[in-house]
Amino acid sequence: MLKQHLQELQQQATPFYVYSLELLRQTLQLAKTEAAKYNYHVHYALKANANAPILAEMLQAGFGADCVSGNEVKRAIEGGFKPEHVVFAGVGKSDAEINYALDQDIFCFNCESKHELEILNELATAKGKTARIALRINPNVNANTHKYITTGLEENKFGINAWELESVLELLQTLPAIELIGIHFHIGSQITDLSVFKNLCTRVNEFQEWFLSRNITLPHINVGGGLGVDYYNPDDNLIPDFEAYFGLFNQFLEVRPGQQVHFELGRSLVAQCGTLISKVLYIKKGITTNFAILDAGMTELIRPALYQSYHQIENLTSEKPEEKYDVVGPICESSDCFRKAVILPETNRGDLVAIRTAGAYGEVMASGYNLREKANVIYL
Ligand SMILES: *Cc1c(COP(=O)(O)O)cnc(C)c1O
Repeated sequence: MLKQHLQELQQQATPFYVYSLELLRQTLQLAKTEAAKYNYHVHYALKANANAPILAEMLQAGFGADCVSGNEVKRAIEGGFKPEHVVFAGVGKSDAEINYALDQDIFCFNCESKHELEILNELATAKGKTARIALRINPNVNANTHKYITTGLEENKFGINAWELESVLELLQTLPAIELIGIHFHIGSQITDLSVFKNLCTRVNEFQEWFLSRNITLPHINVGGGLGVDYYNPDDNLIPDFEAYFGLFNQFLEVRPGQQVHFELGRSLVAQCGTLISKVLYIKKGITTNFAILDAGMTELIRPALYQSYHQIENLTSEKPEEKYDVVGPICESSDCFRKAVILPETNRGDLVAIRTAGAYGEVMASGYNLREKANVIYL
């Protein structure tokens, strides 16, 4: 796909992010079709990528917005998402963020602690408003993913633990400006083993029973996001298996009459449509492999340094015999390495290198460390 656009890519100043809106549209179309089979509501998790053209596609697909900061709520609403399609999660919502979201009358706050519920009640009371909330419950389900992107275990900071729920219900009795409308879960990200979601369904069913046994009916169940993508063979799996994913929830999640089921997908919708393009600056001889030193680094894509994650790396301009390289960036950190021992065609100064599957948690995590300039963005 990228090679077809080589001329256009070669004219850009590097490094830059390139997004295929065509692949994005195909991905969203499939997600939408599969979710619609079961009347599921999809919210796009803005934190994966909040660029305006990408948000416009999400809106076009009819998705809501899942936000984890006040600025994300703002970006979503300014981008055209209706407040009644915006949900707001996060363990540390500031007063200013909460007040902004209250002013916008968003659909739901996903609340993560008793203390947060108390503060939200206070702030809503001051405005004479009622805040709709879902309790983010920590279901203690292992997502079998990297420990830094596991969020649903009791050791994690996210959500309310099962053993606290009884006291949360007691607390809610005393908070008149809070309306409980549902329960929320999000157990982690880059989950490729679908049986993890089956375990989540089992836990959600148990929690539902627990609430029902206390005569609490929940109009909304939000099972979060986390569906993984294929970083190893992007071209073989450009679009995640949404049919299997939503089908699994349909099979295992017990939905009560009138209940709405919500999803919050980030990575699975946008990861494959983005690529980081970089130019080779230098080749340097090492002891066992050579270093290919790029003009992009952890400032443009921090995932390898932060989560030891794998990204496919391609040399778009060389067709010479293969050699082995440690592909590194220019930043003054040893962790600024995209991957060691990468087999590439012989690589030289000026070659264009593509780092694939960078559409999610790439550009949004960019930093200005080393006073780096913000990389450009192009859309194909
Ligand atoms: C990050 C996040 C998501 C999206 O996760 P993906 O793995 O990108 O699908 C959904 N919900 C919440 C609460 C999140 O924090």
